[in-house]
Amino acid sequence: MLKIAFNGAAREVTGTCHLVETDQGSVLLDCGLIQGGKERHERNRERFPFDPARLKAVVLSHAHIDHSGRLAVLRKGGFRGPIFTTEASAELCKILLTDSGHIQEEDARWKIKRLKKAGKDWKWVEPLYTQKDAKEVLKQLKRVAFNKEKEIPGFGSVRFIPAGHILGAAIVELNVRTAEGERKIVFSGDLGVDGGRLMGQPQPAPKADYLIMESTYGNRSRKESGDRTEELFQVVSRTISRGGKVIIPAFAVGRSQEIIARLNDLVEAGRLPDLPVFLDSPMAVRATEVFEDHPEAWSEEAQALDEAGDAPLEFPGLRLTRDVEESKELNRLDGPAVIISASGMCTAGRIKHHLKYNIGDPANTILFVGYQAGGSLGRIIQSGVNPVRIFGEMLTVGAEIVSIEGFSAHADREELLQWFENLEGQPRKTFVVHGEEEASLAFAETLREKYAVDVEVPEPRQEFVLD
Ligand SMILES: [Zn+2]
Repeated sequence: MLKIAFNGAAREVTGTCHLVETDQGSVLLDCGLIQGGKERHERNRERFPFDPARLKAVVLSHAHIDHSGRLAVLRKGGFRGPIFTTEASAELCKILLTDSGHIQEEDARWKIKRLKKAGKDWKWVEPLYTQKDAKEVLKQLKRVAFNKEKEIPGFGSVRFIPAGHILGAAIVELNVRTAEGERKIVFSGDLGVDGGRLMGQPQPAPKADYLIMESTYGNRSRKESGDRTEELFQVVSRTISRGGKVIIPAFAVGRSQEIIARLNDLVEAGRLPDLPVFLDSPMAVRATEVFEDHPEAWSEEAQALDEAGDAPLEFPGLRLTRDVEESKELNRLDGPAVIISASGMCTAGRIKHHLKYNIGDPANTILFVGYQAGGSLGRIIQSGVNPVRIFGEMLTVGAEIVSIEGFSAHADREELLQWFENLEGQPRKTFVVHGEEEASLAFAETLREKYAVDVEVPEPRQEFVLD
């Protein structure tokens, strides 16, 4: 007997949680947080439609919160088994899951404050999980090197194949022993892009009986995104010549390091002067250290450069600021500089202070390198609203506002198809997940038309009995 149930990221993007079940027991592929607004967030409190205590193991494709952020809830539900993941993913989980626990606690604190103020009952409010819960579940992580087969006792085995995407991200090859024989399930996880500076392309996967494939950009082609290093160069040099600063809001893991690697290239090629570049986010600083510690998870190009003595994340002028005092000093800084800070959508964190101090000066540039969700401060600034409200103050926007597209860590439609084509033979059935409904349906249709294959787009919680 073999069954797969799609308990998350089915016709939506977040909350990946796929259950693979046999007569011997079950293994969960990822256990992600459901994200995107209050209503969705509340669904993280619903009971899992299976008994966490009876899982043989969890296999984690990568550290992003929408794949790992509900692990602490799984533990609270009784799961005590191993969580297999790559070495770099385990390190990033330490940063991301503890931070997520902190955010859950803060959310609960705010809610209590609001209810108290309104004279309402608040005693029922509880964080989804705490930093302590997160630290407990981290102990269950079991590190597996890329491309090494690891036995899952009483179930089968697992192998992690590099997926690009972010540091440590893997395509999962799950070999399942059933009464009818061995079956291979390949789970794409999130697939990376071609042309990243630090991360390589997703590697081809072996022939699978069943394929579970992401479709975040299943209906979108990235426009000919020109040379991103060149675009970055233009923005920085233009700003320097005005004597201004470039402020870059960026996600702590992935985007920040990608930008630093490209600035590294420009400075070391002598195209940019030795100007100060600040990475001002404690989480991004720690993530950068994890990147430096795990060259085995970089692209071959980055590995080769590193072996030749050119560390991709080190150049004169780069400063990692950790404590708050150092961060505040940046507000008094004179002359040109680049400041990279989180959060990526300017909704919280130190970036808001940098915006407050720098957004008025026409010499400066605010540079967006990532997606800005509707309603976020980032989107408001990006769309040209002037003045903008930051920390309750109305501020005039004088700085140049620029967006560089194409830094996304997700494969687009063509890259997804390319990866599917590179599979060693066609799967018996393909399940398309991890996309907005429209994107998943469109991508499934493309697969059917192009390759005449059997494709399903699972409904939330839909279960399939397989041969
Ligand atoms: Zn991801």
